[in-house]
Amino acid sequence: MAFSDIEALCKLTPEGREALSTRDKFNVTYSFEANSLPASYDAATGNVTLDNTMSNAKLASYFVHEMTHVRQQKLGKSVDVSNSDSDEFIKANVNEEFIATAFQMQFFVRLDVGGYLNSIKPLTDKNAPPRYDQYKSAYNAGVTKMAGKGFDEEKLITAALGNAISCLKYLFLRAAWV
Ligand SMILES: [Zn+2]
Repeated sequence: MAFSDIEALCKLTPEGREALSTRDKFNVTYSFEANSLPASYDAATGNVTLDNTMSNAKLASYFVHEMTHVRQQKLGKSVDVSNSDSDEFIKANVNEEFIATAFQMQFFVRLDVGGYLNSIKPLTDKNAPPRYDQYKSAYNAGVTKMAGKGFDEEKLITAALGNAISCLKYLFLRAAWV
């Protein structure tokens, strides 16, 4: 697998393009490694490590996830452990993790509904981000709710994404996700 495969997938969605521009803006490097984590970002070296035993699309979604952490951190939105009391730290971390996961899922669902994942279906935890099925159900519920109300395709997707994100947030706040 080459990074160009991930790049090609990223170019297909706004979240992916944002991830690539974050990479370029902050000169993030990457390396492939089979690791205990699917992906991680080391702020000290500016390197993101990706587990290349995953499918391309899943790996690309983790790249989007990690680039969201980079963006949060470079923009000063990450909380420094050393000078935060633990409540604030936990809250900020959960929030940052929520944002990163939301971007990751949003990226993936756009590939899915765009038909770019048809060749790897059925989607399972093996080739999709964990619990993608829950996110997709919430997305589908949003589509059903909005259908027939005269929205164009783009508005319908935005509304469905909103529904999926509310559901994700609910699961995060109940700590039922992480
Ligand atoms: Zn994360």
